Amino acid sequence: MMSTMLYYSTNKKAPVATLREAVTKGLAPDGGLYMPERIPMLDDDFLGRLPDMGLHEISMKIAAKFLEGDIPLDELHSMICETLNFPVPLKLIDNSFYALELFHGPTMAFKDVGARFMARLLGYYTNRSQQELNILVATSGDTGSAVANGFYKVPGIHVFVLYPKGLVSTIQEKQFTTLGENITALEVEGTFDDCQAMVKRAFADEELKNKKNISSANSINWARLLPQTFYYFWGYAQLGKGAGELVCAVPSGNFGNLCAGLIAKRMGLPIYRIIAATNRNDIVPQYLKSGVFNPRPSVATIANAMDVGNPSNFARIAELYDNSHVKISNDIEGFVCSENDIRSAIKSVHLAHDYLLDPHGAIAYSAMKSHAIENPDICKKNFFIATAHPAKFGETIESIIQRQIELPSNLARFATGIKQTTEIPATYEALKEFLSNS
Ligand SMILES: *Cc1c(COP(=O)(O)O)cnc(C)c1O
Repeated sequence: MMSTMLYYSTNKKAPVATLREAVTKGLAPDGGLYMPERIPMLDDDFLGRLPDMGLHEISMKIAAKFLEGDIPLDELHSMICETLNFPVPLKLIDNSFYALELFHGPTMAFKDVGARFMARLLGYYTNRSQQELNILVATSGDTGSAVANGFYKVPGIHVFVLYPKGLVSTIQEKQFTTLGENITALEVEGTFDDCQAMVKRAFADEELKNKKNISSANSINWARLLPQTFYYFWGYAQLGKGAGELVCAVPSGNFGNLCAGLIAKRMGLPIYRIIAATNRNDIVPQYLKSGVFNPRPSVATIANAMDVGNPSNFARIAELYDNSHVKISNDIEGFVCSENDIRSAIKSVHLAHDYLLDPHGAIAYSAMKSHAIENPDICKKNFFIATAHPAKFGETIESIIQRQIELPSNLARFATGIKQTTEIPATYEALKEFLSNS
């Protein structure tokens, strides 16, 4: 049997870690992100049989390639079934253009996949230890709810959600501020980038870490990234036999989703090209053009879960491609969408195809369409990742399509809850003081 997988830091100044260390630490001690020391290949037989397999079977095969030896396979199987207990349909919009709908989980955004898997994996490890684990998570909207709901009432784990005051939608906020129990919401007087920087500081703070067992649930945690590879294979499987190569458009903020797609490609999934679709926070599309990665403060858009000025998973992407701009831009193409383009995509797709996009999906849809128009010689199947249910952004969508949309029961159940938060200034000292006293 092959030895278990080890994980190294993208900064290369920390010792290699076991799975348990990598996922309970979240971020490596040198500030880098953990990467598996090898990307396993899937054989042609598996790839050929994809259309005959279900979501759980496919996920199990991929997960085992990374986790076998660390997690007993029967445990892994239940983790996967409990994580993906909702459908992930590939919907035809027109021609060879599809939406892979990842928003049918409990908080109706794709982050349910990563957060639920991570909660179960960490739950497996905390069950075997005595110490309480504190999860810190910065959110621009959807991560907080997915993580809070994924970890809700998991024994031995306390979750602290940091979010920018006034910059998330009402329903997003309700999803992580009304739960209580082991979920604490911190309303930060700043931006998402401030929240993310505060969380990063906490992980670098030895004094705090000596007092408290802390971990991160942001997409820097490998436990969130791994399960995101599953659905690329599942999306492809749903295209049926003889699908050929694929173009995938991914609405991106911190680039965890896109990074998982690149790993799926490296494992053998025939992705011809992957499109990094962003809103005006176009750090990566700019990098693809210029070769210079230049983070800058994020600006607010109607696709708020993608308002990220320093995409943390870029470090993993660079690592996958030996830091080569040439190699990266060979596989990834950039696309930037303005607020107006988001609105007109939502409107036109609703009119022409009776399909309702959310602002994030609308960006990826536009990217996919534009790539097809600009490359008429490349005839591939195309799907984009539909990351959130349109009802999560009800006010925005209704103003665009001039029609009311129904709130699905998964969201309606949060609407009546009472918000409980603590407001803190956007400084690390404020966070540290709060954590030290709780
Ligand atoms: C988080 C999020 C994104 C961005 O995903 P990343 O993995 O951070 O790039 C896109 N759409 C929605 C709805 C999200 O919640």
